[in-house]
Amino acid sequence: MIQKLTQRSFKYYALLVVSLLFPLVGFFVYAVQYQARFFTILAAALSVNIILLFLFYRRLKLKKSELKLQREDFFEKANVMKVELQKEEGAINAFRQKILAYSQLRGFVEKVSMCLSLEDSAQTLCRELGRIFEHGDATVILYLMDAATGELAIVAAERAQRAVNIKTKRGDVLDHWVMKNLQPLHLEDTRNDFRFDMERIEKEAERPVRSILCAPMIVNNKLVGVLRLDSPVPFKFHKEDLRFLNAAGDVAAVALENAQLYDRVEDMAIRDSLTGLYLRRYLIDRLQEEITRHLRRDKRVAFVMLDLDHFKQYNDQFGHTAGDLVLKHVATLMKEHFSSPGNLLCRYGGEEFCVVLSECTKEEAVFLAKGFVKLVESEVVVLRRERTPVTVSAGVAVFPDEAKTKEELIQRADQLLYEAKRKGRNRVCSV
Ligand code: GH3
Ligand code: MG
Ligand code: MG
Repeated sequence: MIQKLTQRSFKYYALLVVSLLFPLVGFFVYAVQYQARFFTILAAALSVNIILLFLFYRRLKLKKSELKLQREDFFEKANVMKVELQKEEGAINAFRQKILAYSQLRGFVEKVSMCLSLEDSAQTLCRELGRIFEHGDATVILYLMDAATGELAIVAAERAQRAVNIKTKRGDVLDHWVMKNLQPLHLEDTRNDFRFDMERIEKEAERPVRSILCAPMIVNNKLVGVLRLDSPVPFKFHKEDLRFLNAAGDVAAVALENAQLYDRVEDMAIRDSLTGLYLRRYLIDRLQEEITRHLRRDKRVAFVMLDLDHFKQYNDQFGHTAGDLVLKHVATLMKEHFSSPGNLLCRYGGEEFCVVLSECTKEEAVFLAKGFVKLVESEVVVLRRERTPVTVSAGVAVFPDEAKTKEELIQRADQLLYEAKRKGRNRVCSV
């Protein structure tokens, strides 16, 4: 605008000069030759004109500099507004991000706290984190503190690539760093971080790890576990991601503690406190399930009923506490001997135990029961510094060959157990 104004005033100025210069020269020539008085008047008029012209020029210059100042002021204001606008945009974006993070965290908390068991909670936690982070190739791992060993132990994982096999079941150097320092860890690119021996870490993990987020899970100043996200792609995670993982870890820690407590209470309701074996009530329920499952798959279930021989004598001779020790000892041997997955070990009541052997023929069941009777006999118990022999008797029945219902199966094994007692104890009886 100012440029236009300047161009226009220059034109007028030039026009004025030209229009004055031509008559001036003409009149000058004419007046010098013919009219000396007229020349004097003309000269005076022209002088006035020049003065006016000068004044006009000065005013124009003043106006120009005024406009220049206004222009600078305008640009400065525009710049300030631009900066403020950018700031506002940044604040709005940050606010939007926060709302998103809060709603994600809320959904995450709802889903995790809805789970009752530890297994369910842990799996939901990893699955939800994998979904929230939407890092297609990232791996989410949840480690919990193993109270017995004081080490980390993998509980659940969410792998984007099915082929990924997590080798570090007890965590790697990075997880141990978080565990020891109780601080989150964020490595944007592992190749540019020289605190850790990444070559060794990747070799141990047997998968590429280029960016890492790792947060401790703390409840009441106690470390519950470690949450970890890693990716084969560098710069996958940002500061905001770490903040989110940290918050999620704290919430998850409480949910996991509750789930552990729930599992413990549930376990107490179905397990005998002395031996750690299942209680009769639980076994009866499970036996029905097992029978139905095996029937569907046309397989056999064996049922072994066990009873300690002359157990009353231990109580009478060494006291009730010593009798409890014998019960514990036999239960430990049972756990070792019938350890195959799918088997159910139970304290049926008093000094009677039973075992449900999954997918087991009569021959296999009898072989296993005989082996156990021999094992108990060979493992002498020391009661009040006295080496005391312990023996058991057993009855073996198989579904569906010898019984059509669970009640019949138990009754059949019980009858065979008493047959073993009658025949002199420390033996196995079957049909
Ligand atoms: P048998 O060879 O015929 O089985 O003889 P037994 O003495 O083992 O059989 P009996 O049924 O006469 O005795 C079972 C005893 O087990 C009676 C009871 O005092 C004892 N008993 C039951 N439950 C417990 C327990 O939890 N702890 C202890 N210490 N003893 C128990
Ligand atoms: Mg007995
Ligand atoms: Mg008995």
